[in-house]
Amino acid sequence: MHEFAICEQLVATVLEELARMTPPKRLTCVRIAVGGMQQVVPESMEMAFDVLTQDTPAEGAKLEMRRTPVVLDCRKCGWHGEAKPNLIRCGGCSSGDVQVVSGKELYLESLEVEETPNAECRTQN
Ligand SMILES: [Zn+2]
Repeated sequence: MHEFAICEQLVATVLEELARMTPPKRLTCVRIAVGGMQQVVPESMEMAFDVLTQDTPAEGAKLEMRRTPVVLDCRKCGWHGEAKPNLIRCGGCSSGDVQVVSGKELYLESLEVEETPNAECRTQN
């Protein structure tokens, strides 16, 4: 599954970030930006995220996806603007000879964390 591979990298980055926080924080939410041309199913991303964060400090956090627009530059007429993800053509002259400025990206935007109540709580179980 495509989303699983994406999430694997994402979770690795998130865990690295968490490991750097002192004192340790509890992760509540992960926000990612996903370009309009990225073929990802939000439900599959969430499912993969849940599976991959099991038994890690990121377990139970919410995954929020923000779709970013597809932006093109036309090589023929110089048009620059937003396009539909399924129609990668110039909005001016309809040429297919365009450069994708953004829309393929997928990156971690922010992490939301909260203070862990206190150290004792973490050693229970
Ligand atoms: Zn054009």
